[in-house]
Amino acid sequence: MTDSPLSHPPLFAEIAIPAYVTQTYTYRVPDAFIPLAQRGCRVAVPFGRKMQIGYVVALHDTLEGELAPASLKDIEAWLDETPVVAEEILELTHWVADYYYAPWGEVLKAALPTGLDTSLQTLVTATEAGRKLAVSSQPSAVSGQPPAASRQPSLVEVDGGEHTQHPAPSTQHLPKALTKHKFLFWLVEAGGESPLDAAPSEYSANRAKAIARELEKDGLVTIQQRVGRQRIQPKRQTAVRWNSSQQSVVSSQQEEKNSALRTQHSALIQNPSPQQQRVFEVMETVTEAIAFTELTTKADVSPSVIHTLEKKGVLEVFVREIRRDPLAYLKLLPQAEAITLNAGQQAAYETILEAVSAKKFGSFLLQGVTGSGKTEVYLSVMQSVVERGQSALMLVPEIGLTPMFSRRLSQKFGSLVAVLHSSLSPGERLDEWERIRDGQARVVIGTRSAIFAPLVDLGLIIIDEEHDGSYKQTESMPHYHARDTAIVRASRAGCTIVLGSATPAIESAQNARAGKYVHLTLSERFGGRSLPDVTLVDMREVFKRHKRTQFVSDELVTAIQNTCDQREQAMILLNRRGFASFMLCRSCGLTSDCPNCDVTLTYHKADRRLSCHYCNHHTPVPELCPNCNGRYINYIGEGTEQLEERFKELFPQLRIARLDRDVTRRRGVFERVLGEFASGGIDVLVGTQMIAKGHDFPNVTLVGVVSVDAGLAVPDFRSAERTFQLLAQVAGRAGRGDRPGRVLIQTYHPEHYALGSAREQDYNRFFNEEIGYRRALYYPPFSVLANVVVRHTDLTQASALAERFAQLLRGAAKEEPSTRILGPAPAPMAKLRGEYRFQILVKARKRQNIRDAFDLSFARLTDGERRNVFVEIDPVDLM
Ligand code: ADP
Ligand code: ZN
Repeated sequence: MTDSPLSHPPLFAEIAIPAYVTQTYTYRVPDAFIPLAQRGCRVAVPFGRKMQIGYVVALHDTLEGELAPASLKDIEAWLDETPVVAEEILELTHWVADYYYAPWGEVLKAALPTGLDTSLQTLVTATEAGRKLAVSSQPSAVSGQPPAASRQPSLVEVDGGEHTQHPAPSTQHLPKALTKHKFLFWLVEAGGESPLDAAPSEYSANRAKAIARELEKDGLVTIQQRVGRQRIQPKRQTAVRWNSSQQSVVSSQQEEKNSALRTQHSALIQNPSPQQQRVFEVMETVTEAIAFTELTTKADVSPSVIHTLEKKGVLEVFVREIRRDPLAYLKLLPQAEAITLNAGQQAAYETILEAVSAKKFGSFLLQGVTGSGKTEVYLSVMQSVVERGQSALMLVPEIGLTPMFSRRLSQKFGSLVAVLHSSLSPGERLDEWERIRDGQARVVIGTRSAIFAPLVDLGLIIIDEEHDGSYKQTESMPHYHARDTAIVRASRAGCTIVLGSATPAIESAQNARAGKYVHLTLSERFGGRSLPDVTLVDMREVFKRHKRTQFVSDELVTAIQNTCDQREQAMILLNRRGFASFMLCRSCGLTSDCPNCDVTLTYHKADRRLSCHYCNHHTPVPELCPNCNGRYINYIGEGTEQLEERFKELFPQLRIARLDRDVTRRRGVFERVLGEFASGGIDVLVGTQMIAKGHDFPNVTLVGVVSVDAGLAVPDFRSAERTFQLLAQVAGRAGRGDRPGRVLIQTYHPEHYALGSAREQDYNRFFNEEIGYRRALYYPPFSVLANVVVRHTDLTQASALAERFAQLLRGAAKEEPSTRILGPAPAPMAKLRGEYRFQILVKARKRQNIRDAFDLSFARLTDGERRNVFVEIDPVDLM
């Protein structure tokens, strides 16, 4: 880039970089890019020793503060002609970055489909010296023989002693010199320049990089980075249409037009063969064009038949860009029947619609018992929004819920629907994202990150099952909560937001009570169906009866038998996958612990291995105890795999299937099993919480919960809330059809208020008890929470840094007595994926108090320390 002097005033850009850094960086915009310069574009910039792709978040023509223009680096490449991040999303991601202490660049990266990612390529070019050396000597094909190196000057000596700081390799270094030489030879043969990742497969990526670096030191190659291709390219397909130069048929009737086209084109062939006839027949049914392979299949002809017709000027073969359509399988569904809302639904719908029409921010909590028909309310409001020309976004917590919703939505809105969730291929996701951005898709359904979807003229956001913990991104940065982000998006966009749930989060219910949200309720099931009858099975009694612990009570066995005798179906929940939660040697007491995490390894019988559910570490099941060689290995703590096996023994005549993350790892299994269950091909469905949510199977009249006690025992202030919500959800699967449902919950704690409220299905009772505890213990919604996790592979360092950071926080907060700093203490998961973890919990009256304390404390950390301190604002999971 050569700048023509004074052709433009200088321009500077703030770049957000997706890396663990807190600030944005200023770069100079070279003149050549000034015409392209817009906020929201991606650029490549030199960053540290590498190039990085970053996002332009601001442009300005003056520099602030101490920055001197000369100290700034140039933007290396401008990647987008038009911004990929819309203004609205820039602002929203900025809010997320700021609120959740996350790097803006990371949030932006999370907001965009990965298919947009452009790779940075490392390009290796042989220098003049490198070329000379390579052509003057060929490496021996036989490895281990050093003829080339012994005849020729060694690689490092080649350009006249300039690199004398690198001594000539001694014999013991020869193999290395040989590898370098071979690599150089390959490079020159490849034209003297090649991307590093095109190196022969005998070099691993790291090895190739290391060799190239050394050759660079020797002056034999140069290494540059350049912008590669976008990761996902548009999908192309070979297609066939009538040769357009022949087309002259005008008719408004598609059928007439098609047959006229056929007559006209087939006339070009004197005596059409039977194959050609068949092609004409298929072509007559085609509106614009047909995929080449579809044509050959349908007409049952070989490709040559088509090519012959092409040569004769009858058909035209061309390449078209096609959309990757994740909902293509829904194309053939019949149009949904129109429904009429009942009085309660209608009232809720009208209230929400008023807000939609006002085109101002309005927020609602739609609390409706399971089966009350919240979905119909959502659909009706969405329809009104679409009719007004605006767009609507609906979030669901789990991918498992999207097939059902996307089917409903497709029936109603056809090609206006786009879906966004993680099991789409990157290509599908990219295509859906582009349709949304271009305004072709105006009804979007997706999981968490769809909150960043670039909908045009957003009129409505719906958060279904708003209490669900999966709206919070916990595993990786940025730790945002999609529901709370949605509230901010709606308020900035001036649109309506509806939070829906049968069991709202305590915080949301409190907000509704405080008047922050308009509270709408649907207190009865649709069609006057009754809520299921819930029974708690006291497992202490069952123990007394049998004098030993039982996995499945007689009550549950009888209930399943009765249900299936009536040709009805049962769902049985056990929130723990695998066969057994751990292995125990009865001779020496050895348990199977994960070497990286502070948990036991779960026994998976089907693949005969022990595996960690956190880091995926696994080992084969030992025959004998690895410690004492004993033969008495026991497996303790039942999981879904064992439950399925037990049921198969108990009910050999029933069809039993299981759904959990182990079986749904394969694509399509989830949909297949649910489909089979829906059509009555399965009697009893066993599963983890995956089966608890959202599904609507009218023939399910029994829901069993095998154990809830582990969930209650989790050391987290939300464990009661989560247990209650899960039970209410899963109970809500029973009796959704004409026959009433019943629920059996096995527990050792029948007196716990979460279970009592679940039995009575009384949200208010639960809320009132729970809110009392929250107030007494100064937990949300009475305080604002931040959880700091200090992680390090070294225990002493982790502990010391946690101690220091807690001190800093205490110092920073000492003026504000309502701010409490608890810890540090080892996190409940004290070791995870090889890192030790300490936790500091911050409770404050106001958000600003937390901000102030963090800002002061972070300022005292070095960059290195900062990298080991992870903040989670409003944590949903304190593990
Ligand atoms: P929720 O999401 O509140 O648990 P759903 O929306 O799944 O409840 O509704 C429960 C059942 O009642 C579904 O089978 C649904 O089709 C039916 N339903 C709800 N509202 C209507 C309506 N207005 N007309 C006909 N069927 C309805
Ligand atoms: Zn592990």
